[in-house]
Amino acid sequence: MKEIILIKNGELALKGLNRSTFEDILIKNMRRRLKDLGKISIRKAQSAIYIEPEEEEFDFEEALDRVSRIFGIAGFSRACVCEKTVEDILEKSVIYLKDTMESIKTFKVEAKRADKNFPLTSPEICRELGAVLLEAYPHLSVDVHNPDIIIFVEVRDFAAYIHGQQLQGAGGLPVGTAGTASVLISGGIDSPVAAWCMAKRGLRLNAIHFASPPYTSMRAEIKVKTLLSKVARYSGGINLAIVPFTEIQDQIAQNCPEEYFTLIMRRMMMRISQKIAEKSGSLALITGESLGQVASQTLPALVSTDSVVSMPVLRPLIGMDKEEIISISRNIDTFETSILPYEDCCTVFTPKHPKTRPTLELCVQAERKLDVERLSETAVRETRYLYIE
Ligand code: ATP
Ligand code: MG
Repeated sequence: MKEIILIKNGELALKGLNRSTFEDILIKNMRRRLKDLGKISIRKAQSAIYIEPEEEEFDFEEALDRVSRIFGIAGFSRACVCEKTVEDILEKSVIYLKDTMESIKTFKVEAKRADKNFPLTSPEICRELGAVLLEAYPHLSVDVHNPDIIIFVEVRDFAAYIHGQQLQGAGGLPVGTAGTASVLISGGIDSPVAAWCMAKRGLRLNAIHFASPPYTSMRAEIKVKTLLSKVARYSGGINLAIVPFTEIQDQIAQNCPEEYFTLIMRRMMMRISQKIAEKSGSLALITGESLGQVASQTLPALVSTDSVVSMPVLRPLIGMDKEEIISISRNIDTFETSILPYEDCCTVFTPKHPKTRPTLELCVQAERKLDVERLSETAVRETRYLYIE
């Protein structure tokens, strides 16, 4: 029996005149994410998008799995394709819905008839199909108010479709509809979650990682790539910039007061990130900071890191507890990788008593012996670029 994937695109429906642009981007994203599974055709109708495999070998289960991670999709279902005859619809429904019907007790049928030449009206389709299903599955009864499941029949111009259970989509907005931003990615729990949150709001992602070999190992870099590839299952491909940070950390250690190490490091990261972000077409930076989580994330500390950049810094986790962040991280399957024990450049130079209430003036004072411009420019020049998908 031939099946298609039927997409309902939630929030998109609210976008008025932009809706068509948003849908086009969503369709482009879907094509890109499904293209290695076989030939498909994608059709747009009023409130739905139809993905139809055009090859026998098409991996339908894998396609469903991928669709569940594409932002901009509120819900989706697998649907059976029927000829536009009453007989075919009734006959296929009984067979196609077998597993579903055997696992429930009550149902209701809803029909939509876009093709007005079809011989039955929508209420007639509901009645006919309801009767046939009751006969085939005698344990069932109809409940129009609170059914276990709603069976949908749609008679379109090109075919008729039957579907049951709707599956939950990833929600959000299609990646690319909100522009591009660069996420500062460490190997920790927070930054991959932050990246995911912003991709969900439609941002295409670039990523920037600061590595300090030999203080940090190759394994730490591989960990970051693994994390990004997990985020990319939702966001699509990500350009990653790997910035050499060793000299900067050494210079900070030699020239700055210890209690300011982390803050000055964060300020250097932000300066360099802005330069890289500008080169790569990003309009904002994203970090995994959460208010008060550590000394470098108090409000005065954030004021001090923000003051070295002119780009907006998006911090989607700012108001979340660690528990909430971990819960998302488990859902998007980054948690197990994040907790692998490889050292991060921030943990290498952690001061014993970090400054929690820095004034901007004291920060500037503390880094006055650094050649900020030269160090930043060298780092940008020596940055390596990779593509993660
Ligand atoms: P995470 O779990 O994301 O590592 P964290 O709680 O460990 O966050 P910090 O180490 O203070 O917090 O880092 C705060 C933010 O700074 C991170 O969320 C990330 O956006 C950025 N960051 C930290 N280390 C790096 C790094 N090595 N490369 C790029 N960005 C980094
Ligand atoms: Mg960290």
